[in-house]
Amino acid sequence: MTTASIIDGKAFAETLRARVADAAASFAQQAGRNAGLAVVLVGEDPASQVYVRNKGRQTLACGMESFEHKLPADAPEADLLALVEQLNGDPAVDGILVQLPLPRHMDEAKVIAALNPDKDVDGFHVVNVGRLATGAPGFVPCTPLGCVMLLKDQLGSLSGLDAVVIGRSNIVGKPMAQLLLAESCTVTVAHSRTRDLADVVRRADIVVAAVGRPEMVRGDWLKPGATVIDVGINRVPAAEDGKSRLVGDVDFASASAVAGAITPVPGGVGPMTIAVLLRNTIVAAHRNMGLALDE
Ligand code: NDP
Repeated sequence: MTTASIIDGKAFAETLRARVADAAASFAQQAGRNAGLAVVLVGEDPASQVYVRNKGRQTLACGMESFEHKLPADAPEADLLALVEQLNGDPAVDGILVQLPLPRHMDEAKVIAALNPDKDVDGFHVVNVGRLATGAPGFVPCTPLGCVMLLKDQLGSLSGLDAVVIGRSNIVGKPMAQLLLAESCTVTVAHSRTRDLADVVRRADIVVAAVGRPEMVRGDWLKPGATVIDVGINRVPAAEDGKSRLVGDVDFASASAVAGAITPVPGGVGPMTIAVLLRNTIVAAHRNMGLALDE
């Protein structure tokens, strides 16, 4: 039985996009041009194509320019680096996103290092990682920033709360832990070598699951009333009709009977990622033009 409040990421993302659209209109008035996001796609990975299309559509819907650049899967790395260099110097481009994963013959770290950190709206450049770790203004990866927005909307101040982040990837787990630390949580980062994961999770007021294992976190692992953020997106075959369905890293049925609040999958964290990307882009546009932005 579901007793937890359901955290509606879809609705929150809609509100965030409306705020970005207002800021984009005011930016256009002050700057005499629209803010712009460049998205670079290398190759024809179907999932990446869908992400890039959605990003482009939502960027335009917020009143910003969307510049899409496609390179063939066998393009030399030097071509991608040259494109990044060109976008770094293009005054119409405020944010640059290189869609990952890149083909095997390309070095992702090298490509990310080539981005101008002040246009790195994904927040993956080591300069932005360092800024996050030291509390300086920069860009924070979109998915964990979206999770913190949902948590603050649900709980208000996070100060003093015990948080457990399961997963330590550069894209989700590590920045998530940094953000929670910046909110004055007591943070534990769990991973595949963590002993007695259920015991670790049971201490937490906030649980963020970013593992990539379908329905791994169960209700009996949770402290009653805990707030659960499920980042996982896993496609699994449905027992009933053989079609596939999306599930998170948390077993929603058992967890929602114990948690105080929980994000569903789909409709929780997922919709936040692009909305935060648009937010990061409008922030970049203002900063790069030396304009103030009310946040
Ligand atoms: P990674 O595969 O990069 O990282 C997974 C992490 O989980 C690793 O740190 C790994 O530990 C840890 N882990 C694996 N197995 C276990 C286990 N049995 N117990 C505890 N920890 C474990 O994944 P990502 O961080 O990129 O993504 C995580 C999930 O979030 C995925 O389902 C992904 O699809 C989803 N995702 C959703 C997004 C969105 O909503 N928009 C965006 C990004 C990701 P170790 O380091 O020791 O190997």
